[in-house]
Amino acid sequence: PLPTIYAITPTYSRPVQKAELTRLANTFRQVAQLHWILVEDAAGRSELVSRFLARAGLPSTHLHVPTPRRYKRPGLPRATEQRNAGLAWLRQTHRHEPQRPQPGVLFFADDDNTYSLELFQEMRTTRKVSVWPVGLVGGRRYERPLVENGKVVGWYTGWRADRPFAIDMAGFAVSLQVILSNPKAVFKRRGSQPGMQESDFLKQITTVEELEPKANNCTKVLVWHTRTEKVNLANEPKYHLDTVKIEV
Ligand code: UDP
Ligand code: MN
Repeated sequence: PLPTIYAITPTYSRPVQKAELTRLANTFRQVAQLHWILVEDAAGRSELVSRFLARAGLPSTHLHVPTPRRYKRPGLPRATEQRNAGLAWLRQTHRHEPQRPQPGVLFFADDDNTYSLELFQEMRTTRKVSVWPVGLVGGRRYERPLVENGKVVGWYTGWRADRPFAIDMAGFAVSLQVILSNPKAVFKRRGSQPGMQESDFLKQITTVEELEPKANNCTKVLVWHTRTEKVNLANEPKYHLDTVKIEV
């Protein structure tokens, strides 16, 4: 059987949320054997996301956990608690099969990135931890793992080259087996500097030597760290509201 791909997506309420989720669902729906773990950064499951998921036509799990207010500041990493909630769900769901779990692969899919379908074919064969280039990130057209003789030997990056794993969240996948056999591996708030989330997490479960390069020895960009422009709502009415209430 095909290994299941588990996509953990943190998401939060904002004007573009439903548009982002629509685009993401349209991609995921074309991927076989994908389970979407959508984690709302909120005190509860919202009506908008609940209704959306019910109609999305995808196997999914809907979780929520609010980011503590003190962590909602510019310069601090985002979505730490939500990714950990996804990890906790995966471990809980597979708790009876810690040694020989169902074949599965986990990756972290932010709601605003752009994913090619080829990316899922590549990550599906992850044995432990696989890596690939990410486009439009780190102040460059792309960042990528440098590969020699099939092994990762360094990083092509223009930003904080001292990172042990100089890779964006969108640039790696982890087998379910590795997630279950490292039950304490989580994203950390304490001591985690900006841009170090990925390295902090990956060093708990693997080494650079062990990484499996994908996307033709990391020479193809199959995912882009796109970011959506903030919407202009300057002309929203304060009175003379529309006569119908519309979810956007
Ligand atoms: N996110 C979240 N709560 C927040 C900010 C972001 O859950 O307060 C989610 C967001 O929906 C996305 C991920 O965390 O899936 C990464 O956030 P963002 O895309 O803003 O980060 P960047 O593009 O700057 O890396
Ligand atoms: Mn983003």
